[in-house]
Amino acid sequence: MDFALTDEQRLLRDTVREFAREEVAPVAEDLDRTKAFPYDIVAKLGALGLMGIPFPEEYGGGGADTLTYALAVEELGRIDSSVCITMAAHISLGTTPIYLWGTDQQRSEWLPELCAGRKLAAFGLTEPEAGSDAGATRTEARLEDGEWVIDGAKQFITNAGTDISGCVTITAVTSRGDGGREISNLVVPNGTPGYEPGAPYRKMGWNASDTRPLAFTDCRVPEDALLGRRGDGFKQFLQILDGGRIGVAAMSVGLAQGALDEAIAYAKERQAFGQAISKFQTIQAKIADLSAQIEAARLLVHRAAMEKDAGKSFTLTAAQAKLITGRLAVRACEEAVQIHGGYGYIEEYPVCRFYRDAKILTIGEGTDEVQQMVIAGQLGL
Ligand SMILES: Cc1cc2nc3c(=O)[nH]c(=O)nc-3n(C[C@H](O)[C@H](O)[C@H](O)COP(=O)(O)OP(=O)(O)OC[C@H]3O[C@@H](n4cnc5c(N)ncnc54)[C@H](O)[C@@H]3O)c2cc1C
Repeated sequence: MDFALTDEQRLLRDTVREFAREEVAPVAEDLDRTKAFPYDIVAKLGALGLMGIPFPEEYGGGGADTLTYALAVEELGRIDSSVCITMAAHISLGTTPIYLWGTDQQRSEWLPELCAGRKLAAFGLTEPEAGSDAGATRTEARLEDGEWVIDGAKQFITNAGTDISGCVTITAVTSRGDGGREISNLVVPNGTPGYEPGAPYRKMGWNASDTRPLAFTDCRVPEDALLGRRGDGFKQFLQILDGGRIGVAAMSVGLAQGALDEAIAYAKERQAFGQAISKFQTIQAKIADLSAQIEAARLLVHRAAMEKDAGKSFTLTAAQAKLITGRLAVRACEEAVQIHGGYGYIEEYPVCRFYRDAKILTIGEGTDEVQQMVIAGQLGL
């Protein structure tokens, strides 16, 4: 495995690093406090070509590989998780299904606007009664006079209810003629009668990102809103989740690194017992452990991305990376708060927000327990 980044990968990483520091860091605390969706930042990310990093240039995408995408996600995650998940969910969950399985018409209708960041895409898999067990989907779509009629509900969906949300791809049960159960994916544009994004949730973290329940009541979309083949929905969402895990793992590495950055800076500055607390061995040990674990986790994420780019199976590595990095992010943020002492509990220090933002990383995109199931399955258990 070649650990060296190409010139293009380094350039993009450095561009996003600078953007995150100059444009996102100054407003992150305010966005979190006011729970305001970062429209201006999304527009700037779009202008920089970051809302469509892995998609072909013919659609306005960046034509970059998965590793480049992971590097960009890490750099945003290092500064602000709300902005980061908005981009990562838009790319990995929202836009990828349309790119992978869309017809020429679906691609040309959606991808240019999505890659430019003028519109956002969402992926609606989770339901009140179907989370980890996503195959238990209850939302139904029946074909009537050349239209799909959708009834059901989704919950915890990212990016579906903003002013620029363009569409959501949902899983729905499309019963076969023989009465058998099958799941298919359908693209539902925002504004379709019968499709109502609900009020945003009050969350522990990711405060500036958009998360809502969705309701579908006699919602009608044309027959060609089907994404890919009828009945392929289960296979498709597993594939989307596999790829999405690389993005969330990169985000976790970014958050852990961001927490470590803050902890090091604070430890050098804070005086106790007549010297900087960075001189105490117990503080140094925490920082050294985190530094080593973050670097190891980063390499695992890069390996998953490189396997995907090489067209190899990456299910095992992506699940391992997601499991390791989510836990690491939670621990790194906790240690960073600890190193800040009482100030770590006060919102004006970024580690306070980081700590709240971290926990979802062991839950979203498949919980830790689901990753363990995937890993065990890959190991033949
Ligand atoms: C902020 C946020 C954003 C999200 N964005 C999206 C999105 O954009 N699109 C989307 O579709 N979903 C999204 N989700 C949903 C998220 O993916 C789910 O919450 C997650 O998959 C877990 O599902 P659940 O909440 O129903 O928990 P459950 O599946 O009910 O799990 C509850 C507990 O039981 C455990 N458990 C379940 N089954 C097993 C098992 N077989 N063995 C052992 N333990 C088990 C779980 O690990 C967990 O600890 C989001 C969630 C949040 C909070």
